[in-house]
Amino acid sequence: AGARPYATVNPYTGQTEQEFPFLETSEVDGVVEKAHTAFLDWRRRTVEERAAVVKKAAELMLERTDEFAALITKEMGKRIQEAAGEVQLAASILNYYADNGPRFLEPKPIDVMAGEAVVVNEPIGVILAIEPWNYPLYQVVRVAGPNLTLGNTILLKHAENNPQCALALEKLFRDAGAPEGVYTNLFLRIADVEQVIAHKAVQGVTLTGSERAGSSVAQLAGKHLKKSVLELGGSDPFIVLDAPDVGRTVKAATMARMANTGQACIAAKRIIVLDEVFDDVVGGLKQAFSTFTPGDPADPSTTLGPLSTERAAADLAAQIQDAVDKGATVLAGGGRPEHDGAFVNATLLTDVTPDMRAYHEELFGPAAVIYRVADEEEAIALANDSDFGLSAAVYSGDTERARSVADRLESGMVWINQPSGSSPELPFGGVKRSGYGRELSELGMFEFANRRLVRTM
Ligand code: NAP
Repeated sequence: AGARPYATVNPYTGQTEQEFPFLETSEVDGVVEKAHTAFLDWRRRTVEERAAVVKKAAELMLERTDEFAALITKEMGKRIQEAAGEVQLAASILNYYADNGPRFLEPKPIDVMAGEAVVVNEPIGVILAIEPWNYPLYQVVRVAGPNLTLGNTILLKHAENNPQCALALEKLFRDAGAPEGVYTNLFLRIADVEQVIAHKAVQGVTLTGSERAGSSVAQLAGKHLKKSVLELGGSDPFIVLDAPDVGRTVKAATMARMANTGQACIAAKRIIVLDEVFDDVVGGLKQAFSTFTPGDPADPSTTLGPLSTERAAADLAAQIQDAVDKGATVLAGGGRPEHDGAFVNATLLTDVTPDMRAYHEELFGPAAVIYRVADEEEAIALANDSDFGLSAAVYSGDTERARSVADRLESGMVWINQPSGSSPELPFGGVKRSGYGRELSELGMFEFANRRLVRTM
């Protein structure tokens, strides 16, 4: 009660287009029980049969690219070509688990003195997934691809601001042949999350989102003794040691910060540049950041889309203003443009110090902090002076030099001479306050698996 309803509010126009009622608290247990009944049947099917449903979902998703992309653009403001790109990526993840999941799940024999020992991979039950709006399809398939193939069933609580994407995903899995209860969308109140986690049929919960939400869900999971996976925020460093090709490095850093209008957990939020190349790299970045102009995200020629909500834009502008008030220098952008919609200018800040919010907090939008450092030691110390530890990138013409720095960064992922990214076969996840557990790759298959020993004499 009192919470905002699930609603499509177009962040470009500010219009509330449609609202969706919450699932009634009195109906929550019944929905969980349906997912459990579905689990008892789904787990007994062959892995090939389950993989075929996931494969079909990938095929239908690609067929529906335009429809999905338009929904993403309308609900969270992603530029339309980026939205179409997300559909491709999400479909490739479903395909990946359909094609490789059965092989990953094969029993693993263990050498023993006598008889046989084997580890088999079994599903554990109903999984609650709580997902954010920044990649409305990608976030969901990271959970659905592996878990549906494994034999778990899914209750999906999506973000309040992308309800139509949430419903389109539920329909996708039904149309692909998933029996009722195998994948269920819940317009759940936050206040009812505990009731789902507490239910004895629910064996795990995974959340991608903020530290605040992650901490709350981890507490509930602990209280009710359920396995949890958390994919939380990041403030990834992008370290430039030297730049034999300044143009390429600038382009990579710009893309790494500005993709998805900066609303990516693995975006390059802190650009750390060694003194000797600082002026060249920063000159290039200023130039690159000045080319982003606000416009309609549904227009393919637009270079800067709105943020997901008016509140997100106001929050980011406040973080920038806090830095400016305390003495930071604005190299590009700064604040909000004279344009309707949830826009923030493509912004570069420097002279940021630990008393500023921008030093410690995640900037979830098109604003980067640039630091000038004397040497590698200073770069490493600054990069690690963060509560987060999601991904990192290191650029150098000398790969060995880059690797020696990369080795000492505290992160779940590190990319050398390439911006951090995501791909079906690569594990994804963080350390420190960026969360725990992994999604994607073979590793993502086993977070909610019972890796069960069968010993025979
Ligand atoms: P958020 O507020 O935490 O929302 C994410 C999801 O959690 C939504 O479905 C939200 O529901 C739900 N939620 C919010 N409070 C909750 C609570 N107390 N208990 C249970 N569920 C709760 O996240 P956001 O700020 O919109 O999303 C951006 C964050 O996600 C950033 O920090 C970003 O870095 C992180 N992220 C991490 C990854 C990763 O893989 N590590 C990937 C993408 C994004 P409502 O919408 O109904 O509030």
